[in-house]
Amino acid sequence: MQGSMFWGYAIAAAVGLVAGSFLNVVAYRYLSGGSIVRPASHCPSCLTPLSVKDLVPLFSYLLLRGRCRYCRTGIPPRYPLIEAGTAGLFLLCFHYYTFTPAFFQYAVLFSLLLVISVIDLERHLIPNRLVLLLLAWVIFWQLFLPRFSTLSALGGLFTGGLLFLAIALLSQGGIGGGDVKLMAVLGFASGLPDVLLVFMLAFFSGALVGVLLIIFKKKTRKSPLAFGPFLALAFLGMTLWGPWIWDGYFSF
Ligand SMILES: [Zn+2]
Repeated sequence: MQGSMFWGYAIAAAVGLVAGSFLNVVAYRYLSGGSIVRPASHCPSCLTPLSVKDLVPLFSYLLLRGRCRYCRTGIPPRYPLIEAGTAGLFLLCFHYYTFTPAFFQYAVLFSLLLVISVIDLERHLIPNRLVLLLLAWVIFWQLFLPRFSTLSALGGLFTGGLLFLAIALLSQGGIGGGDVKLMAVLGFASGLPDVLLVFMLAFFSGALVGVLLIIFKKKTRKSPLAFGPFLALAFLGMTLWGPWIWDGYFSF
């Protein structure tokens, strides 16, 4: 690896860790149940103000073995997972885009999808405000640096939204309104025909995991599966490996 590439990866990972600790604050706002204590400055359990050495992303968690330095209460694994996950997404984006505008575009987009996925997994809801933020972000890029026509983007929005609306009405509870809105926004970000790839990847991976969970008795047929993470992964797969997946699909 060339020296400059090494530093690119290192910078991408470091910025990703910092962005991840900011996303933890965002996730905490939605998952804390209305607590006004700011997690970035206090231990949520004993309320002791945290010092700089407690706030180093990922490393503080590993050094403290997942416990608060003062009261020894366990820190939810969500914190290091979001930090490591965001760093991983930034690394992926640097790998494919280096430091071009697309890096910025997709690093932010994927990070937002990560925090939406975590909230969906824990609470089975997709916050409207985060979906709106996502929509504003993808409209911004469509206006100033489009990768396909706006007609294609709108086609993706309606195709994705209507497909999921139909499934939501048919499944009666399996797919919620938050999933429909998220799919519509991701359809806008994918355009036609790539929205169909996102739809297929999300649908089949979700169905597969759903069946596996029922077989291994982790879920019943009635309990809904959080679908946000599947949409997020499908969009990531389409964005980074879309042409390759389409090739495989048609040769199959
Ligand atoms: Zn504590």
